[in-house]
Formats: sequence, C-alpha cells, structure tokens
Amino acid sequence: MLKIKKEIYEEMITYCQQGMPYEVCGILAGQDNCVTEIFKIKNIENSSVSYLMDPLEQLKVMKEIRSKTLQFLAIFHSHPFGSAYPSQKDKELAFYDVYYIIVALLPKIEVKCFKIKNNEFFEEEIQVEV
Ligand SMILES: [Zn+2]
Repeated sequence: MLKIKKEIYEEMITYCQQGMPYEVCGILAGQDNCVTEIFKIKNIENSSVSYLMDPLEQLKVMKEIRSKTLQFLAIFHSHPFGSAYPSQKDKELAFYDVYYIIVALLPKIEVKCFKIKNNEFFEEEIQVEV
C-alpha cells in the first residue's frame, strides 16, 4: 500500500486536469512509503495516449530526491480519455520497482495504483492521508 499526503494527491489530480487533452507525468517521493513531494516532468511525447518523461528533467529530479534523502516511490501519469489501467506500452516501459499511478480523467476521475513487473500488473491500494 502506498500512502499519499492529501495536498499532494489533490495537486496531482489538478495537474492532470490542466494537462488535458494530453497525458502528463511525474514522480512522487517521500519517506516510509508515504508520498510528501510531487515532481512534475514534461511529457516529451505530447500525446493523449502515451508519455515519456523528459530524460534530463527526470535525471535532475532523481538527483534532487537523493540529495534530500527521500525515496523515489512512484511514477504517475494521466489517461485523459482511457481507463485507469496500464496500456500495453505502460507495461512494456515499466522499468522501475516503484508504484505506478494512473489518473483517468473522463468520464470521471479515477485514480489507480499498480506494481508492474514482467508485463503483468498488480493493483495496489492508495491511502490518502491528511
Ligand atoms: Zn498510460
């Protein structure tokens, strides 16, 4: 189970809504399996159906996380028009042993969390903390 501070959870959803009609993405970091920081990273694919984090921005964020002695906990991205489940490409490009959060936007907001391994995904619980 992944825990997320309420203000970070809300900021993530707002960011996803603002990115419409494109997918947006980013990294969540924190401590003890609880997300306390959000890092928004440019989707260099400018697409409604896929994302690729800008590699330089991602590198900068990874360094910042390390320098703050935080843990890299999750990668989030939005699905402006799709379901909140990983696409084939999401499964193929899940290289990290972190949580993957998908924010579906239409017809209604739905947030789901997964671990993805060997092209298979397992749903995980998210707990929003005040
Ligand atoms: Zn996706």
